[in-house]
Amino acid sequence: MANVFLVGAGPGDPGMLTLRAKEIIESCDVMIYDYLANAEFLKWCKPDCEILYVGKKGGDHTLPQDQINGLIVEKARSGKVICRLKGGDPYVFGRGGEEGEELVEAGIDFEVVPGITAGVAAAAYAGIPVTHRDFTTSVCFITGHEDPTKSESGHNWAVYGQSTSTLVFYMGVGNLPMIAKNLMDNGRAADTPVALVRWGTRCNQTSFVSDLEHVAEEAQARNWQAPSIIIVGGVCSLHDKLGWFEKKPMLGQGVIVTRAREQASGLVGVLREQGACVREFPTISVEPLDDYAEVETAILQLARYQWVVFTSVNGVKHFWQQLRAIGLDARIFGGMRVAAIGPATADELRARGIEPDFIPEKYVAEHVVKGLLERGIAGSDVLIPRAKVAREVLPRELKAAGCNVTVLPVYETRLGQASGDEIMEALGAGDIRYVTFTSSSTVENFFELVPADAFRNFPEVRIASIGPVTSDTVRKFGLTPAIEPEDYTIPGLVDALIKDAAAK
Ligand code: SAH
Repeated sequence: MANVFLVGAGPGDPGMLTLRAKEIIESCDVMIYDYLANAEFLKWCKPDCEILYVGKKGGDHTLPQDQINGLIVEKARSGKVICRLKGGDPYVFGRGGEEGEELVEAGIDFEVVPGITAGVAAAAYAGIPVTHRDFTTSVCFITGHEDPTKSESGHNWAVYGQSTSTLVFYMGVGNLPMIAKNLMDNGRAADTPVALVRWGTRCNQTSFVSDLEHVAEEAQARNWQAPSIIIVGGVCSLHDKLGWFEKKPMLGQGVIVTRAREQASGLVGVLREQGACVREFPTISVEPLDDYAEVETAILQLARYQWVVFTSVNGVKHFWQQLRAIGLDARIFGGMRVAAIGPATADELRARGIEPDFIPEKYVAEHVVKGLLERGIAGSDVLIPRAKVAREVLPRELKAAGCNVTVLPVYETRLGQASGDEIMEALGAGDIRYVTFTSSSTVENFFELVPADAFRNFPEVRIASIGPVTSDTVRKFGLTPAIEPEDYTIPGLVDALIKDAAAK
């Protein structure tokens, strides 16, 4: 069985990775990756995977190709599973062929995992089908950057100029004037449409369409940079009609997500779906308690309570873990009434076979109390499984209403793995538009990492807070949330962000 895999990482959008590629990333012992392979994929590597960056960016080579080849062979000889990850497809201008030959010469077995090449994917994300019956019967992938040590051009410009093929140039931005001129000199009409797509399929994708006569000038005026593909041919005229990706409401908008990593995926997913460039900086981490004796006792005596009020998804998860650990299940809630403070908490209960007796319309403690009182909670024994440190409003108000309240810590939140320096660096780079806060503790921990005074140096960054309680915590630091949804939920927050982005 082969232990070396030449793997295509696709054009950048994480969704464009193949299932086979993901499997290999998850199981490899050594990861050797390039500049254009989305570094996001590295989070799937095993914790002890050795990760080596050999990327090339323009002329700046981290490792020359012969040393990359040597490195792959050396690592492969150890018998470990090697993932050689390259942008797009490994055999399309990726020098994968050379690496493969080197492996064969060294007597090392390898497999290839093709990837979606940028010439096809970036074109499609820019609304350009590389073939179309009305325009062309073929497509041609061409390097726009010939090996500089070659004495004679390998290009047959006469053939490119006279064909009706869609021409897709890789690595061609620097040579754009020469490419356009050669094509026109060799017979392509000056008004042939040309598209440039930069960072195709990523949240920072940009593109424009011109024609052979004007494209070089226009690219220069826009200070157009690599990595870009250049597409030449009538199909580029469909860009406006078929373009879809660049119409996403939050395309290119930098959004910082501060939620705990385990909880962020929902928010991150929807924001990405809207085109946002999401940066995850988990300012809190959800941790189990050191000791669960108290929780165990409470579970064994659950019949004492008439109501159990869950205030968070984590509360449900950690309570359940303990319940299961002592061999119990949902039946323990028998005649009891159960409340969930919000829709996500309610779903967590439903997933465990419990339909909450009460879910408030607004997701803050004050509304919960009101609703619970309407349902006759006054005077009951109430258990509230929740975080070790949490707001006191709910227990206080319920006590005031004559309830016998037991607060039961089932997990705790600590400062997350985010680094203040990394957040400052992201802010300093100037492409962050929003910072999102989904609880008071995300706010408190964020400003522990980034002093509020330093944050004030970025007045263009808008604060989005999930609801009034979180907003109050933001104000405590002398800052004002620009966005607060009417519906204090994650979907509400995302809607408010989209509206705000669209208003600009
Ligand atoms: N093996 C890769 C190509 C590597 S050559 C593939 O199959 O896609 C590097 C060139 O690919 C870049 O200079 C650029 O022309 C193109 N490229 C790679 N990713 C791109 C992207 N996301 N958007 C636009 N062009 C891209």
